[in-house]
Amino acid sequence: MLNIVIFGAPGSGKGTQGGMIAKRYNLQHVSTGELLRKEIKNATELGKTANEYISKGQLVPDTIVIGMIEELIKTTTGVDGFLFDGFPRTVTQGVELDKKLEENNMSISKVLCLDVEENELIERLLNRGKLEGRADDNRETIESRLDVYHNQTQPLIDFYNKQGKMSVIEGSGDINAIFQSIVEVMDNLL
Ligand code: ADP
Repeated sequence: MLNIVIFGAPGSGKGTQGGMIAKRYNLQHVSTGELLRKEIKNATELGKTANEYISKGQLVPDTIVIGMIEELIKTTTGVDGFLFDGFPRTVTQGVELDKKLEENNMSISKVLCLDVEENELIERLLNRGKLEGRADDNRETIESRLDVYHNQTQPLIDFYNKQGKMSVIEGSGDINAIFQSIVEVMDNLL
């Protein structure tokens, strides 16, 4: 099994590259952001709770996202591994992910960190807000998401560096060129 984390700031291209990786390597693409937005759309209790955090650019509580991931790890079949996108986002989530994988005789194979300059991130997110109308892609919420990334998510870089699993990928430029750099790292795992 090949279990990959695609890591990076909001707007770094995790969703785009994650989709391409999942398709090429037959991995289950797990985007916690997408799963949460689905819950919001379906107006479930979980969705209502999640929306209170997402709309402010804050993280949804660890217990909620970890519960969703645990369920998926246990029930997914017919793939060659998982592609985690937007998860883990806190060190607690990282520790729990390792535990849940281990309980199922798996582990993280690699963490691909998309590196994009902050100005470009802001530009991309504002643009996405205009194109796709995502409610959290407005200037105020973007600022708090970037703060949250620096304070709560970036410590995971150290966490995965210590495990020797981190690969930094230059994340600006042509989408297909970025994907090629990812493929080089991925093919080395096979
Ligand atoms: P982006 O990376 O562009 O911010 P996502 O779709 O990954 O987009 O996440 C959108 C929002 O969903 C986040 O700002 C956060 O509120 C919530 N969210 C997504 N994944 C997690 C997670 N693993 N832990 C906590 N909150 C999350």
